[in-house]
Amino acid sequence: MDYAVTPAQAEFGRAFEDFCQRTIAPRAAQVDRDGELSRANWDDLAGMGWFGLYVDKAWGGTAEDVDWVMRALAEESLAKACAATFLSAGASVGLCGAPIQLFGSEALKARWLPGLASGATIGCFGLTEPDAGTDAASLRTRAERVDGGWRLHGEKALITNAPIADVCVVMAVTDPDAGHAGVTAFAVDLAGEGIARTAAYRKLGLRGSPTGGLVFDGAFVPDDAVVGTVGAGFLQAMQTLELGRISMSHFGIGIAEAAFDAASRYAVERKAFGKPIATRQAVHFKLADMKIEIDAARLMARKAAWAKASGQPAAEYASIAKLYATEMAVRCADRAVQVFGGWGYTDDFPVERLLRDARLGPIGEGTSEIQRELIARHLLDV
Ligand SMILES: Cc1cc2nc3c(=O)[nH]c(=O)nc-3n(C[C@H](O)[C@H](O)[C@H](O)COP(=O)(O)OP(=O)(O)OC[C@H]3O[C@@H](n4cnc5c(N)ncnc54)[C@H](O)[C@@H]3O)c2cc1C
Repeated sequence: MDYAVTPAQAEFGRAFEDFCQRTIAPRAAQVDRDGELSRANWDDLAGMGWFGLYVDKAWGGTAEDVDWVMRALAEESLAKACAATFLSAGASVGLCGAPIQLFGSEALKARWLPGLASGATIGCFGLTEPDAGTDAASLRTRAERVDGGWRLHGEKALITNAPIADVCVVMAVTDPDAGHAGVTAFAVDLAGEGIARTAAYRKLGLRGSPTGGLVFDGAFVPDDAVVGTVGAGFLQAMQTLELGRISMSHFGIGIAEAAFDAASRYAVERKAFGKPIATRQAVHFKLADMKIEIDAARLMARKAAWAKASGQPAAEYASIAKLYATEMAVRCADRAVQVFGGWGYTDDFPVERLLRDARLGPIGEGTSEIQRELIARHLLDV
């Protein structure tokens, strides 16, 4: 494994970091207060070609021109600048776009990928239900066979972008007796009849990323909306989440970097007992621990990306990176709040938002508990 970043990767990463710090980061506090997706961020990301990084050229993207390291650098920069925007952008072109691109028919790709690649279409990924999150095999949303297609009945909950999305990759049970093989993925046009959206939830953090539910009351979906083949949905969801977990490790690294930068700057400026607090060993140790943990998380994330790029099994590395980086981000944001003292507890400074935003990491796309289970199962081969 080669840890060196090539000049082309470094230049690409710098350009994205500059863009994110110049354009996205200055809006992050207001986006959090507004509590809704920033269309300005979305449009500017589209202008930078962000969404296209994940989509093949045939469908309007630039995926062949970039590699895993470049996408990792871009994701870290965006998460550092505004984690809420990162989450919504990733759900659209990643969680929704990836299964369509990886498993969908040519017609399905032609229908949805150009819009997802340009940012004109907003996507979401519907796996979680009110009574089925970690236990994704106990889905209750049903798709029943009808002439020319399927009718969906059921409810999805806690779905990123559900309040505003145009399309959702919905996991539904097509054969209740077939277990995992009875789940099918459908790319559902959310403008169709029989589909209602719940109000957006009010959340601890990531308030600029709308999260909501979708209710399907006999919504008709044509046969050509099936992603790949009937019965392949559960496996597709797991493969999509493997990619999502690598992205979530970048989410953690980005937030932790933002916390580290803010705490380092503040420590130099803030004086107590006649000296900058940056002269105190207790502050040194916090900053040093943050730096060590960020570097460790980045190496784990790069290992997962390297496994993907070289066609090796990556599920275990993705779980390790996701678990460590997201828990690390909570620790780093918490340390940053401590370095800021009382001011860290106010929204005059960004660190309280970083702590709130970071807290999703150990929950979303497979909780820390389930990552530990998955890692242990790989180790024990059970
Ligand atoms: C902001 C946000 C955005 C989200 N976006 C999406 C999205 O776009 N699409 C989507 O499908 N979902 C999304 N989710 C849902 C998210 O993936 C789930 O919340 C998560 O998988 C946990 O499921 P749950 O909430 O039902 O918790 P539960 O599964 O009920 O878990 C509750 C607790 O029990 C623990 N637990 C459960 N089973 C086990 C076990 N076997 N062993 C040990 N511990 C266990 C869990 O780790 C957790 O601590 C989002 C959630 C949030 C908060």
